[in-house]
Formats: sequence, C-alpha cells, structure tokens
Amino acid sequence: MKALVLEEVHNLSLRDFPIERDEVMGPHDVRIKVHTVGICGSDVHYFTHGRIADFVVRAPMILGHEASGTVIEAGAEVSTLKVGDRVCMEPGIPDPNSRTTRLGLYNIDPAVRFWATPPVHGILRPTVVHPAAFTFKLPDNVSFAEAAMVEPLAVGVHAATKAQIKPGDVAMVSGAGPIGLVTALAALAAGCARVFVTDVDDTKLAIAASLSSAITTLNVTSDPVAQILKATDGWGVEVVFECSGSAHAASGVFDALAPGGRVVYVGIPNAPFPYDMGKAMVREARVEHIFRYAHVFPRCVGLLSSGAINVKPLITRTFSFDDSVEAFKIAATAPKGEVKMQIELPQ
Ligand code: ZN
Repeated sequence: MKALVLEEVHNLSLRDFPIERDEVMGPHDVRIKVHTVGICGSDVHYFTHGRIADFVVRAPMILGHEASGTVIEAGAEVSTLKVGDRVCMEPGIPDPNSRTTRLGLYNIDPAVRFWATPPVHGILRPTVVHPAAFTFKLPDNVSFAEAAMVEPLAVGVHAATKAQIKPGDVAMVSGAGPIGLVTALAALAAGCARVFVTDVDDTKLAIAASLSSAITTLNVTSDPVAQILKATDGWGVEVVFECSGSAHAASGVFDALAPGGRVVYVGIPNAPFPYDMGKAMVREARVEHIFRYAHVFPRCVGLLSSGAINVKPLITRTFSFDDSVEAFKIAATAPKGEVKMQIELPQ
C-alpha cells in the first residue's frame, strides 16, 4: 500500500510499501480506513534527526501516530465496534501480560509497541489493523480532524490528572507548542481558574490567549515569575506544567510555585539539567513526570464532545496525502503561526 516512508534521516518518500503481511486480522482487531493524521513533533524529529533518545531509525519506517478513521472490518470477537463506526486510535499497544501493564502502568511498559517509534510503523497509510480495545468510537459531533487531536490532548489530560488539580487552582504552563496548549486546555477543564502560559514566541502566545479568557500569556523575556507573583499577591501558582523541554524553564519550575504546589514535567529536555532542590523542599513541592498517557482516550473524546475542550483553533493547516512530503518539509521549518498540521487521506 502507498505510505509516507521515512527512508532515512532527511529522506521521505510517498511510495508503495509492503506492509499487508503485517495486517492480518485477529478476532479482537478491527481494520480501519485512515482519515486524518496529525503531524507530531516526534515525527518531525525522526525526519530531521533520525532518532529520539535511544529510538533510532535503522530501516525505512512509516511515520504518523495521531489518527482517526472509519472501521471497515471487525474481528469475530469484537462487540464494541462495527463496520462504519468513526473512531480514533490509541497508538501504543502494551503487552497485556507484562508486569508494568498488570500494575496499571501500561504506558511505561518497556514492551509497548507505539506507532512510528522504531522499529514499529506509523499510520500515514490507507488502512491499519488495530486492537478494538485501543480504538474509540466517536460521537457524531466530533470531527475526524478533532479526533486526530485526541492523541496529543491525551498527554495534557494525563498531565492534569497527575497534578490532581482542584477547582480554583491557578496553573502555569511553560511552552505554548501543541502540547503546552492542550495541557492548558486540560488544566482549565480539570478546574483551574486561571492558567499562565509562557513562551519565547509571541505568535504562539497569541494563539494561547485566543483559546480562553482564563489564559494569561507571558513572554519569557518579560520576567514571567515576577508577573505571576504580582498577579497572585506573592502566593504563586498551585501547579506548574513544564512543557517546553527547555533546560532553563525546567530548572526554574519552583520559582513561581506556591507552597504545597505540584510540578509536572511534560516536555522532554534534550540533556540532563539541574534543579534547585532547596526551593522544592521549602515548598514541599510534589514533582511528577509523565510519559505519554494511560487510558484517557475515552475522557478526551468526552471532553471534545461536550465542548469542555475545543481543539479546533489548534488545527491550523491541512494537507492532502499526496502533499505529505511537502507537509513535513514545511513542519521541519517550524513555521510561525502554525500549531497542528494534519494530513487527510483519500476516502
Ligand atoms: Zn504526538
């Protein structure tokens, strides 16, 4: 089948790729016609660097993991989905018998097979076979484009869950990329009264500010810590979400944190960084880290359907499948004003 293949670093092609033999249906699987796929920072990073941490592209690999589509075949034992259902798909399939999965931590199962993480192929192809248990039916009022945002949104919802947000909490999100923005939306949906979003890029901050009147944007060059302390009568924020991956931001997470506050590290810094443990201790800060998400797709679909979260303003550009190589070249330049670019497959 025709697929978007990362042949090696800096080399993408849209070509026939023999994957049909991997697409044998089991009784608990569904076959899905792929409709929309979001371009993730990780896809772009594999394109431009050929690796993320210890995951190295050593053979041609199909990209893409943020996807929605339509069920075109259901396995004999599948009772939750039927042909014609519109769905979104969770891209990581753990080993159901692993120790981490049985502990309820399946997202950190070392054996998890996650789309477009070498050597596992991604989803920028016409069809895919996927376990029904990791495939989620969409209500009529959630579009394919919104449904392809469920995967990044799941990161924000998982982060907000880890933060144990209480109604009225004030949060800060550092980094206004797609993950920072979905985290801010998830924090508001979880009950935050106000969210400060920081970034270096004013075009990203303008998009953040447009999402909610409860979002206050601060450029990192304007001493956001001083501004947050001023706006909170010196108390600070109850929750800090570090979504920028910047070592500077990651080491400064306690500066605006209120006593008893929580920090959730979401962005992956590209190198180890120091943080001031003394500042953490005097606040009795609780520090959490997340990796992807575990079983929050149904919640995300519910939040989109009810209108509690609106991801539509984040979808800034849509390409046809035929233009997907061009789409990645554009994404690799990190164009200002773009948040989430998506690719639509022919139906
Ligand atoms: Zn992603």
